[in-house]
Amino acid sequence: MIATPDYRALLATAVAEARQGLAEGGIPIGAALYHADGRLLGCGHNRRVQENDPSIHGETDAFRKAGRQRSYRDTIMVTTLAPCWYCSGLVRQFNIGTVVVGESETFRGGIDWLREAGVTVIDLADRECIEMMQGYIAANPDVWNEDIGEG
Ligand SMILES: [Zn+2]
Repeated sequence: MIATPDYRALLATAVAEARQGLAEGGIPIGAALYHADGRLLGCGHNRRVQENDPSIHGETDAFRKAGRQRSYRDTIMVTTLAPCWYCSGLVRQFNIGTVVVGESETFRGGIDWLREAGVTVIDLADRECIEMMQGYIAANPDVWNEDIGEG
């Protein structure tokens, strides 16, 4: 039996990635894929602006950096912001067992859909994540709307 991970400690990795993205001039959304035993498998951040690639979301970046895994059932996708439909689809496609979100106040994404599918979703309602995201959106509304596919 694996002890319950310290979700806030895992979130710190995703927040550091988000801050790096912001420093690069990108959207501050970071993510990390952990094994339930506490091993960091991969981490990354949204690089759509930096790479001119709309497919690089925080979650997909962390997922790719983690490389191939035999099973995702015992992995935890940690992300600073609730996952969009695209990233929620990734979670379901690969049967990632747990999703930890820094916050869902700014954007609810696919949280309900994931829960209905049996994915454990933990929402930390983290103040730092909320302020970082809302500050970015207030300053860059067009970039944000493009990111979630709204025009
Ligand atoms: Zn996404």
